[in-house]
Parts: sequence; structure tokens; C-alpha cells
Amino acid sequence: MKPETCEHLLDDLSDFLDGEASEEVCAEIERHLADCENCRVMVDTLHKTVLLYHELPQPELPEDARQRLYQSLDLEAYLTAK
Ligand SMILES: [Zn+2]
Repeated sequence: MKPETCEHLLDDLSDFLDGEASEEVCAEIERHLADCENCRVMVDTLHKTVLLYHELPQPELPEDARQRLYQSLDLEAYLTAK
């Protein structure tokens, strides 16, 4: 798997998570995820975060609560790992 495939995937990821990506893009992303554990973990984490935000009663979180949320999801570890 070429490294640039991951970056290409990231471009479409927000559409994918919002359910707005085309079938073609979804298939491409899912095919990549089957082969790329890094992206699979990342998508899983992001997806959970998106679902969590949608379930929250208030759209705005205090900054410290948001940071705790990111930390509990290991999202911060991913963001700083790159
Ligand atoms: Zn990848």
C-alpha cells in the first residue's frame, strides 16, 4: 500500500463519516481500510467521536472536557503521532 493512499483517503474521510461520500469513494475507502490497520483504527476512533458528538445534548463542550474526551479516545495520541 503506497503511503499517499492514506493521505488521499484522509481527504475524503469527513464526507465518508458524514455519509456524504459517493458509493465509489466509500468502496475505495473500505477497500483501503481492509488493508491498512492504521487507517482502520483512525476511522474507528473518528467515527466514535462523531457519534459521540451527535449524541451530546449540548453542541459546545468546555475546552477541558473536550481535551479529556480526546484523551479518553486516544485521539490526541493519534494527532501527535504524525
Ligand atoms: Zn492507510
